[in-house]
Amino acid sequence: MNFQEEFDPTQFRCQIHNKRLHGLDIRDKASKRLYCWNCVRELPNAMSTVHNIEEILTPEGLEEEEARLRSMAEALEQEAQATWANELDIILQGIIDRATELQNMITSGFKTGFQSLSLFEYEKLFEALMKYLETFARENRLEEGQMLDDYILIYKKFIGEAEMMKYKKQAYLVFRDEIKARLKNIDNIFNNMEASLKDLDRDLMNFPAKARMNRSPMRGGGGGGYGSPNRMTPDVNWIDEIKRGKKLFV
Ligand SMILES: [Zn+2]
Repeated sequence: MNFQEEFDPTQFRCQIHNKRLHGLDIRDKASKRLYCWNCVRELPNAMSTVHNIEEILTPEGLEEEEARLRSMAEALEQEAQATWANELDIILQGIIDRATELQNMITSGFKTGFQSLSLFEYEKLFEALMKYLETFARENRLEEGQMLDDYILIYKKFIGEAEMMKYKKQAYLVFRDEIKARLKNIDNIFNNMEASLKDLDRDLMNFPAKARMNRSPMRGGGGGGYGSPNRMTPDVNWIDEIKRGKKLFV
């Protein structure tokens, strides 16, 4: 910034005393705004209502205030983000971790359960029958009697396993439907959680609009450093808003 071009309010003089300006009254209804030291001395309450004009009408004064506001804004942003972002991360990561853990548990539980369902006897019966046939072959003999009767008994049980499998299949289907119903419940719970998270996301997106009363004209407006021509003709809308709301002068 060129210091020669910088605006210096103290180079101007009071209309009454012809002394350099030192004070500024920023109250809503001030009878006058510009003060030299003589004007200030004439005030009943001295400096109580008059500000140092250099704090308010110089680039340095504005920059100092802007830096103060910026550091407050940054601190607030960091604090706000640290609070919710961290908690959200912890909660969501916890959900993911526990869901993965439960997935492994349920998958392995299901396998164990299914294996117990498939404890069919046909293998045992098959092996027993094969042993009988080996015996018959080894002894090279097939005759009436206990051996053959036993063989036929076991054989009937062996072919009866097909019927057993039908029952076991039915039991499995009932079990599967029950699991499906439970999964549906879990899915509903997850859908509710998803809806809550989407609500939260929407609130977070809308939060800036809720929290911000006025958009900062200096940072948002694009272009216009100190001394640039369009600085004197800023977007009028926000000025009108301030005038209507009378929020600037309190
Ligand atoms: Zn004066």
